[in-house]
Amino acid sequence: MADFDYICIGAGSGGIASANRAAKYGKKVAIIEANEIGGTCVNVGCVPKKAMWYGAQVAEAIHKYAPDYGFDVTVNNFDWKKLIASRDAYIERIHGSYGRVFTNNNITLIRGFATFVDKNTVEVNGEKITADHILIATGGRPKIGNVPGAEYGIDSDGFFDLKEQPKRVVVAGAGYIAVELAGVMHSLGSETHLLVRKNAPLRSFDPMLSETLTEIIRTEGMTLHTHHVIKQVEKQDDGSLCVIMTSGEQIETDCLVWAIGRAPANDNIGLENIGVERDDKGYIKVDKYQNTNVDNVYAVGDCIGKVELTPVAVKAGRLLSERLFNGQHDAHMDYDLIPTVVFSHPPIGTMGLTEPQAIAKYGEENIKVYNSSFAAMYTAVTIHRQATKMKLICAGKEQKVVGIHGIGFAMDEILQGFAVAMKMGATKADFDACVAIHPTSAEEFVTLT
Ligand code: FAD
Ligand code: NDP
Repeated sequence: MADFDYICIGAGSGGIASANRAAKYGKKVAIIEANEIGGTCVNVGCVPKKAMWYGAQVAEAIHKYAPDYGFDVTVNNFDWKKLIASRDAYIERIHGSYGRVFTNNNITLIRGFATFVDKNTVEVNGEKITADHILIATGGRPKIGNVPGAEYGIDSDGFFDLKEQPKRVVVAGAGYIAVELAGVMHSLGSETHLLVRKNAPLRSFDPMLSETLTEIIRTEGMTLHTHHVIKQVEKQDDGSLCVIMTSGEQIETDCLVWAIGRAPANDNIGLENIGVERDDKGYIKVDKYQNTNVDNVYAVGDCIGKVELTPVAVKAGRLLSERLFNGQHDAHMDYDLIPTVVFSHPPIGTMGLTEPQAIAKYGEENIKVYNSSFAAMYTAVTIHRQATKMKLICAGKEQKVVGIHGIGFAMDEILQGFAVAMKMGATKADFDACVAIHPTSAEEFVTLT
């Protein structure tokens, strides 16, 4: 029976980061992966999504913006298969580089599905392996609707597996994935319908973001259907789908993508054998040190259901290894103030409190909100002017920045630096003290009045 200092179940964002950090401190580490190295992010998440988002940006540059920049472009064809091949080749290179890092760090990669036998033992491919410490980093999986015919639709994993570009797509959902995938498909030329069951997409974001995205979606062509709840999906003789709403309305489509949230992937790994506690949604319960209720068994990433982002899983995984294997006894993840970007069209960057949350926390009289609205210059020199909107929410006499929100061209790249400032406790005066970089969109955040 092979014995290790540390076993990481799942070679996704959290498991890989934690395994590599433990190996750096000389620990004997095994990482177990049932599918592809890299997990959701690399194979069916951030990476393929961003590659396709870049493809969509190229399409927009050619079709919308190039003419007014003086280019007379004739596009003979858009080859979906070529985009997918380029994307997948890039992912293959990531697989290769992760494999080399495992080899260099003397990490044993075991391919197979792990289940717990006891708190120090897992079984994989019929073999038992043991360790002093075991990390659960099994991630999540997409949910699909619970209506008749739901199975005719695909989820985000299926989306990344599409061999042909559907001419018509219906995307059901209102969160990150729905907005991002619908935006990509619209920009790449599919007739796209985004179906949200309530009044708007991204309802939990600052209202300015949700409202501006809704306005831009409405003016730029994708069809947004609000208050649309799917009752049934029927498959037609020609293979197309008929999506039927509770209102009776119907939409014919070639492809239905469910993007209605994710669930933790830990219901089948033998947690009951060792008594690891989960919450009512199935997420593993952990304390601030990523400890489960079972000694020497830990969990990070999407399977704990806190903040489902790659850098969060990575940081939590690394900090755990610092604590366990490098004597940093208090190392733990700070789940407060995490910046995030939605790769919508245009992108959204956001961190901290929304305006309603700031009012609830500090009282309306104790916050000051600064807004800016303009057309991003990249678009403003063309006939396709597109709004950029920014908001800074400050609290208290010192006007500490407690929320920063933006939607517009390049917002995906703008946020990170401001996130550092906010994490350091910056005030509005600190923002103002910084000289603007001109001409950029980002400069608006340091010149707000
Ligand atoms: P995962 O990356 O899901 O890794 C878990 C791994 O464990 C998987 O490889 C799985 O096969 C393996 N596994 C599960 N059970 C077992 C078992 N019993 N034995 C062996 N192996 C097992 N986040 C961002 O920050 N930015 C983005 O732009 C972004 N875009 C996304 C787009 C999409 C479409 C999706 C779905 C997610 C996106 N995310 C994004 C979220 C991000 O992908 C996740 O938060 C992140 O991958 C979570 O990492 P993890 O280590 O918890 O799990
Ligand atoms: P989200 O939880 O972000 O959004 C799903 C939304 O779909 C819900 O908020 C809900 O919105 C709506 N919904 C839920 N159930 C139904 C239903 N039965 N029918 C119709 N709509 C429904 O989930 P996602 O799957 O979009 O993404 C999962 C997570 O992955 C994200 O939260 C994020 O953490 C991460 N991610 C990050 C990305 C990034 O960093 N750019 C990109 C993609 C994912 P409502 O209540 O308004 O209807």
